[in-house]
Amino acid sequence: AYVVAEPCIKCKYTDCVEVCPVNCFYEGANFLVIHPDECIDCGACEPVCPTKAIFPESELPKEWAEYKTLNADFSTKW
Ligand code: SF4
Repeated sequence: AYVVAEPCIKCKYTDCVEVCPVNCFYEGANFLVIHPDECIDCGACEPVCPTKAIFPESELPKEWAEYKTLNADFSTKW
């Protein structure tokens, strides 16, 4: 699945939500998150993100590793 990381915080754009074919974006605490089981890895959201906050899980920068859990938690438990 794709993961939304720190640069999304305070971003006001929702281009990613608009291009996602399966509507798997959800509101996190102060950033958007991707539901790990609903994301179909199409990659459509990554290039349209103006803050470059979206990464395939395998390419998530180490300093934002905790965002994998944050995306899962905010999208599935809230
Ligand atoms: Fe949605 Fe595709 Fe991005 Fe996954 S990779 S969140 S399915 S747009």
